[in-house]
Amino acid sequence: MLSLLLRDNIRNITPYSTARDDCKAKMDIYLDANENPYPNGVNRYPSPHQPKLKEMLSVLKHVPAENIFIGNGSDEPIDLIFRLFCPPGESSMVQIVPTYGMYSVAAAINDVRVIDAPLDGNFALDAAAVLSKVEKDTKAIFLCSPNNPSGNLLDRGQILRILDNFDGIVVVDEAYIDFADGESFITQLGKYPRLVVLQTMSKAWGMAGLRIGLAIADKFIVDVMSRIKYPYNVSVLNQSKAEELLSDPLAAADKVAEIKSERNRLATALSDMEPVVRVYPSDANFLLVRFRDKSEVFARLLQAGIIVRDRSSAYGCDGCLRITVGTPEENDRVISVISGKPVGKGQIPADGNPDKEKDPDGGGKPDRRASCFRKTGETAVSVRVDLDNFHKPVIATGLGFFNHMLEQIGYHGGIGLDIICFGDLSTDDHHSVEDVAIALGDCLKEALGDKSGIGRYGFCLPMDEAEAMVLLDLGGRTDFLWDVTLHEPKVGDVSSQMFRHFFKSLSEHLNCNLHIKATGENDHHIVEGIFKAFARALKSAVKQEQQGGVIPSSKGWL
Ligand code: PMP
Repeated sequence: MLSLLLRDNIRNITPYSTARDDCKAKMDIYLDANENPYPNGVNRYPSPHQPKLKEMLSVLKHVPAENIFIGNGSDEPIDLIFRLFCPPGESSMVQIVPTYGMYSVAAAINDVRVIDAPLDGNFALDAAAVLSKVEKDTKAIFLCSPNNPSGNLLDRGQILRILDNFDGIVVVDEAYIDFADGESFITQLGKYPRLVVLQTMSKAWGMAGLRIGLAIADKFIVDVMSRIKYPYNVSVLNQSKAEELLSDPLAAADKVAEIKSERNRLATALSDMEPVVRVYPSDANFLLVRFRDKSEVFARLLQAGIIVRDRSSAYGCDGCLRITVGTPEENDRVISVISGKPVGKGQIPADGNPDKEKDPDGGGKPDRRASCFRKTGETAVSVRVDLDNFHKPVIATGLGFFNHMLEQIGYHGGIGLDIICFGDLSTDDHHSVEDVAIALGDCLKEALGDKSGIGRYGFCLPMDEAEAMVLLDLGGRTDFLWDVTLHEPKVGDVSSQMFRHFFKSLSEHLNCNLHIKATGENDHHIVEGIFKAFARALKSAVKQEQQGGVIPSSKGWL
């Protein structure tokens, strides 16, 4: 029972109720909050519970909005965890060391005793060592993964062991998770109601100045945090700027990919340098580096106008500086100052291997990549397509079944495909499904370029008892045929009639002939069969199989 973990005074607290909590209806005239009535963009109080931002984050993180608390930076939920669960003067928390300094500061402010549980010499987590530090009055364990300042992801199995063997609150701070290849602990929330996952918009999302941090947790914990927070903790300007920046998340993902590649380049370059003893492996956007003489290196960097963080006083970090990954030019300057040698632009390629060919695509073949961002009053859709390089699809539309279907296009089409859609799902699924189809059609068309060399045609496949046949011609004419009977009004969370609409909109924007026939008993099978068959049709149609870039038409153009 989570409520038993709460401090008594918090369990029984009557929260402050804002004017907007008291009246949620849309009114013509607001005279209930003692605001100044003259508009200047900020004369009204912000939404106390940030529903729009939470909806967007819910789509991106595949977690219901009711499980998301938004704070003034993640420092706010860190402080709230002590205020909720740790009686001042009579409780303790266990933290790994070295780690992020705010846990112990927030604990001290709340008069909570801090017990350190050292990581090993490689900064690896040993669950038994942490659990052995737990005392009778220990209310929370703080873990940080990837950890600051060491940079490494903590072992998932060890964290699960702690969750399985400690009956207080387990905080997993994932401020840097977007730079790691490992999976977030958000997926474990259903199994562990005492788990609180912290994330932030400050790092991968580039919004440190906005102060937006998240606690993702059981609805009960989110509700209590919301009751005791300052009523208007995220300002109007911060909410609206965050909504704007979040609406094109694939642009942020591109920057994260660049930072990760620069991190690897910087690590490789530094590890060969004379002043460097060790570059610790990093899953974050910084490197912890041990130097023979860290003071000399720090002074030299300072002299060159570069400031890094001296972490040498942290546990296990003697001789270490923490270097945040910057732009390629900034990283070149760091490399140049530490090595004492000038570094020309582009001398060290992105993966740190100077011998690698400059042209990663080889053979001067044109990129068949495209990205589209389409924003209307109803939806914001970002799509990235790479016809020649498959990667695990990143799909988020807020519609679970639709996500699953779109993933099929990536997996079975063998193409790189990312789609993020923030839509007006509170109305219904129509605009989201239609606008994803439009953006996907536009994006595929752009990626196809002049279509030279493509196979052009494309498929049918069985899906258990169902059969799906998708005939595709990328020739440039638009003809759409749909011979499919679905039995129920919805498949998963998507209206059945939207599947026809999806493919029709897609064919209109991709300018293709698309004939779809499918039969079967189970609607899920029928629809999944169609998406998979479409993906296979697309795969064979976009594949460049013709030698010499021949346009696959006797007309000479498509
Ligand atoms: N957690 C960790 C591990 C951090 O390193 C930081 C900031 N450096 C934070 C949380 C706080 O982030 P925010 O900007 O969201 O307060």
